[in-house]
Amino acid sequence: MAQAKLSIDLDALRGNWRALNDMTGCETAAVVKADGYGLGAARVAKALSREGARRFFVAIAEEGASLREALGPGPEICVFSGHMSGDTDMINDLSLTPMINSIDQMLRHVEALPGAPFGIQLDSGMNRLGMEPGEWSALRDIALAQNPVLIMSHLACADEPDHEMNPQQLRAFREMTDGIDAPRSLAQTGGILLGPDYHFDVTRPGIGVYGGLPFVDAQPVVTLEIPVIQIRDLEPGETVGYGNSFTATRPIRLATIAGGYADGIHRIMGPRASLFSGETRCPIAGRISMDLIGVDVTDAPEVPDTLELLGQHQSVDTLADWAGTIGYEILTSLGARYNRVYRGG
Ligand SMILES: *Cc1c(COP(=O)(O)O)cnc(C)c1O
Repeated sequence: MAQAKLSIDLDALRGNWRALNDMTGCETAAVVKADGYGLGAARVAKALSREGARRFFVAIAEEGASLREALGPGPEICVFSGHMSGDTDMINDLSLTPMINSIDQMLRHVEALPGAPFGIQLDSGMNRLGMEPGEWSALRDIALAQNPVLIMSHLACADEPDHEMNPQQLRAFREMTDGIDAPRSLAQTGGILLGPDYHFDVTRPGIGVYGGLPFVDAQPVVTLEIPVIQIRDLEPGETVGYGNSFTATRPIRLATIAGGYADGIHRIMGPRASLFSGETRCPIAGRISMDLIGVDVTDAPEVPDTLELLGQHQSVDTLADWAGTIGYEILTSLGARYNRVYRGG
């Protein structure tokens, strides 16, 4: 079998959520948008609900609808994109809670589903989603009369603890919400780490639960093992892969493995990337192809059956460094071709 194995450790995931929960005195929700950051929203949310999570956030109503089918009634499913036209039946039938982003969305929601729960998303400076302070002051009394279940905003620079944007957004959020009875939420993973001033009533961690930075103490959640299809020995001067970008400078043993850029192993990582055979680091040799990668396994004590790209030796953030991106993008581009195996939960 040439299918690579992506193992998802649901016990580690639960441990990460619990650790983030232990840092605050308030409710900890969980963000499971983009199919649980690529790891499977249904499995992730079920494991976290066993750990005590009662509120989940998704990006769009369709994600909320399939999550509701997986979770059944009970947990609150909040939708960041709010109430878009065409969402009404999903929101109603599957008990989703839209985070209302504008006056238009507010009107749509109360006209189509009077009395149905909703939250409010405010813009405290990121200029992405949510009502601006002016819009909010026009709507505030009407919205509060309908008892929103949550009032939230999002931090733009929470992964940089010393960034002046953090206290600035905190001030803006407080100005818009101080004195309101409804529960408030500001912090994603990075916001939790900024300390209690940022916690309010509900936190919304995503990446830290999945084992990524800025939660430095996170346990790794994913392991990726890729089968070796073929082994060959190369003489000095022989080349490997498309464009001859690698030339052997010594006799080497080369493994061809069953993964490539179609599996989210971005081509740009190639020159800096390695895999592990046990404790031995084995560098990639030549370009990453769509489905195949050459790996220099000369130093491995035995001929390997599989090589590990993600696991105890290197994290999603290690791969992100090689690719000049962030762990979030590595996780959410993990391919559909892997055999996903869940442990624990
Ligand atoms: C994605 C997202 C989160 C989770 O952020 P992490 O950095 O992954 O913890 C929280 N809130 C909003 C509005 C988001 O879009």
